[in-house]
Amino acid sequence: MPKLLFAVSEVHPLIKTGGLADVAYSLPRALQPHLHDLRLVLPAYRQAVQRARRLQPVATLQLTGFEQPIRILEGLLPDSDIPLWLVDAPEFFDREGGPYGDVDGLDWPDNAARYTLFARAIVEIACNRAGLDWQPDVVHCNDWQTGLVPALLHHEPARPATVFTLHNLAYQGLFDAAVFNTLALPKFLWTAEGLEFYGRLSFLKGGITFADRLTTVSPTYAREIQTADFGYGLEGLLDFRSAHLTGILNGADYTLWEPALDTLIEQPYDANSLELKAINKHTLQRSLGLPQTTGVALIGMIGRLVEQKGIDLLLEILPTLLGQPIQLAVLGSGEKKFEQALRGIARRQPQQVAVYIGYHEELAHRIEAGADMFLMPSRFEPCGLNQLYSLRYGTVPIVRRTGGLADSVVDATPSRLQDGSATGFVFDAATPAALLHTLQRALALYHQPEQWRKLAVRGMQQDFSWGSNVDAYLAVYQQALADRGTPPSAQ
Ligand code: ADP
Repeated sequence: MPKLLFAVSEVHPLIKTGGLADVAYSLPRALQPHLHDLRLVLPAYRQAVQRARRLQPVATLQLTGFEQPIRILEGLLPDSDIPLWLVDAPEFFDREGGPYGDVDGLDWPDNAARYTLFARAIVEIACNRAGLDWQPDVVHCNDWQTGLVPALLHHEPARPATVFTLHNLAYQGLFDAAVFNTLALPKFLWTAEGLEFYGRLSFLKGGITFADRLTTVSPTYAREIQTADFGYGLEGLLDFRSAHLTGILNGADYTLWEPALDTLIEQPYDANSLELKAINKHTLQRSLGLPQTTGVALIGMIGRLVEQKGIDLLLEILPTLLGQPIQLAVLGSGEKKFEQALRGIARRQPQQVAVYIGYHEELAHRIEAGADMFLMPSRFEPCGLNQLYSLRYGTVPIVRRTGGLADSVVDATPSRLQDGSATGFVFDAATPAALLHTLQRALALYHQPEQWRKLAVRGMQQDFSWGSNVDAYLAVYQQALADRGTPPSAQ
């Protein structure tokens, strides 16, 4: 039973920018019954410190190259008894703003130094040099912010095994070559076999190159990232490491996302009382200022407003789509041009379009509960969580066939409808025409209420909890240990 250190840069409900925070909250909790001894490590961001309860300083580190001592604060991952360590370096993490950027969304200029410090603190903990009297057998790192950890640990004689999970290859932690020299990293890491990526410094490459085992968040995305279309130039390296790469679909946390138990929605419901969903629809319409018309399909969309999510595809077809009796509720934030375009449409057509720009956890639940359909026309989607939540809420997902969307939604073709396996609508081409065509298919079925109900109920019956995917992670930890050799705790 390996001891696990889960290293991550965001975790619900302490600090969140996207699905990574959801996974960092739900995966450790799902793993805990199988592992017993696991701990989570996170930077001590101002917001995280404010939200975490009963933090105690338990150790102080002095890292060469950093003037100030670094404290380790100990608390618990909320709603669990999993120990949480916060790496407290106020100069880097005690700031107003997000984890990766300021209040305007601009990256912090010292991100390379911030996540180098975080990685070095993790290495000290992993090698039992942090004064915590604890050493993991496996360190599970996530995304570029922890990419240096496997690279730095690789050269440690008494190191634990390392697992690196790619949640989104589009975010790589790329910095100018000159930054490398400011970080006091071992010089031998600056090679094409190390952290150098076409003349730049890549944190992500450190994880991909040096981790004993790699995972990503869906089987389809694991295949996609080995191709030039999705690999961002790392496809060759990922192909080279493919024998050590596993795609494991993220699980939905049904303690948070379950319409029968959701305290953030007006009216709880389940598959046997799906008609009650209409109450949530009316409440949502009222709160968003949309007419409470029945028989009009309400389409929901939640997420980062960036090209990845296909928001531009939606904007292109909106003039045509809004010629039909539909309503649209969008919640998100991201690129200013998309925010402005959406706001403009909502101003011009308030009878049909409601837009909330910003982050709003409760509204996200109310959209899932109140919308009839949920739109995710992503160009790529490593896993995606909202389609899993939508399935659970009987809010029929309309998705592009990519990554985790392809692995979780079954298209409502006539034969799939007939054999009862359909759960949503899936399209292939990342084009406005393909999206519009698929929305038309969905709207046509929506106007056949009995068929629609069956499709929604079928979705609600799917089980995308962590379940067997936890076993897949446990197997990867064992493989990493086997690759690494004797675990430190047995030495
Ligand atoms: P990604 O990690 O690429 O942003 P995911 O679908 O994997 O996308 O996860 C997104 C998570 O963040 C979901 O839990 C979603 O509900 C939430 N989310 C995204 N944007 C917002 C927002 N503006 N308000 C509330 N929740 C949001």
